[in-house]
Amino acid sequence: MTAPYSGGCGCGAIRYTVTSEPLISYLCHCTECQRRTSSAFGLNFQIPTENLVIDKGTPASRTRSADSGNDLALNFCGDCGTPLFSAPGARPQIRVIYAGTLDDPSWVPVKLNIWTASVLPWVPMDTGIANEPGQPNMADYIGKV
Ligand SMILES: [Zn+2]
Ligand SMILES: [Zn+2]
Repeated sequence: MTAPYSGGCGCGAIRYTVTSEPLISYLCHCTECQRRTSSAFGLNFQIPTENLVIDKGTPASRTRSADSGNDLALNFCGDCGTPLFSAPGARPQIRVIYAGTLDDPSWVPVKLNIWTASVLPWVPMDTGIANEPGQPNMADYIGKV
């Protein structure tokens, strides 16, 4: 598949389009992704902020302190509660898309694992890719993996 990619929340109140390829896509094993997904990890990817277009509705937002210590604004559907993307306070030029909200997330490649310090013990880890214990500098990976 190639961009654009469409996605949205569970009830259809929020629809969005991603108009570029991901800068980087990865599994995040941080405790907030575990909480957000109510599961083991998040499948996330980063895009430039201008490449996220909200086609329908207005996401609700709450800001929290991420495991990295930086503010992170979680954007979600105020009607059905589906988490959609986050806006890192330290990197306003970036949006982090929660890939499970794409209409078809099957194409999203896993380029690395991050926050493996909190990985659940039964998760099979791909040793052929980078496994970062915490939050890496993504610039070290964008365009290189
Ligand atoms: Zn919804
Ligand atoms: Zn995370």
